[in-house]
Amino acid sequence: MEYHVERTLFSKRIVHLNDDGAGRLHRLTGWRIDIRSDVSVAEASRAVIKGPYDVSLVEGSITTPHDAERIHHIRRMSKFLVTIGACATAGGIQALRNFANVEKFTSIVYATPAYIQTLAKSTPISEHIRVDFELRGCPINKYQLVEVLSAFLNHRKPVTPQHSVCVECKSRGNVCVMVAHGTPCLGPVTHAGCGAICPSYDRGCYGCFGPMETPNARALGDRLRALGMPARDIQRVFRNFNAQAGAFREESERHGG
Ligand code: SF4
Ligand code: SF4
Repeated sequence: MEYHVERTLFSKRIVHLNDDGAGRLHRLTGWRIDIRSDVSVAEASRAVIKGPYDVSLVEGSITTPHDAERIHHIRRMSKFLVTIGACATAGGIQALRNFANVEKFTSIVYATPAYIQTLAKSTPISEHIRVDFELRGCPINKYQLVEVLSAFLNHRKPVTPQHSVCVECKSRGNVCVMVAHGTPCLGPVTHAGCGAICPSYDRGCYGCFGPMETPNARALGDRLRALGMPARDIQRVFRNFNAQAGAFREESERHGG
């Protein structure tokens, strides 16, 4: 069994599979994952294992013409292809360029913008190729990653929660920060997976796991407006790591620009 991690930025979540995560996967499947011998991590190791691959984990969005071409090669080489993280599943923070003029950005950021080859938009992998599973989060939950790998190894569908952060928040017994003191919180529309970390520390959720299935972002936008948040701020709340994800993008656009 061979794993391949494409374009990873030395993901701590994956490297951490060497300890408890890898142990759990071993107990579930009998297979052993060792980041140094069985997983090819481009930035963590010099050893790049040639395909074909049983499972490819793809991080990062499509932002350059080279990305757009290469991802088709990775798809052809992979039996299963899983995208992980907000960049790969929703375009990432770099998708903020999608609401602006990318040439203007490059002229401000780079001394010689003529050398920069970039696409006008940052897009998720699923807009370019068929994806077998999207694992959300910025960063992802390592236990969910183990579940996804285990599922594909055992030829079954991965089981990850489809509900919102609010469910996790209530199951931890938290007092709701939005109800108690009007703190804006994206928990009602955000995909579960983090264990409601932010509300557990008395702050609102920023939506880093992206939209849950069938979120009612419009109702939350209306609620934030009723709490006195200016339209410009509501737009910003929905434009973060998952700015390009359908429901968040639409709700941000409803509040201008
Ligand atoms: S604090 Fe946020 S996540 Fe928790 S119940 Fe309230 S709205 Fe939902
Ligand atoms: S509470 Fe929201 S912003 Fe905080 S880690 Fe969880 S999903 Fe991300």
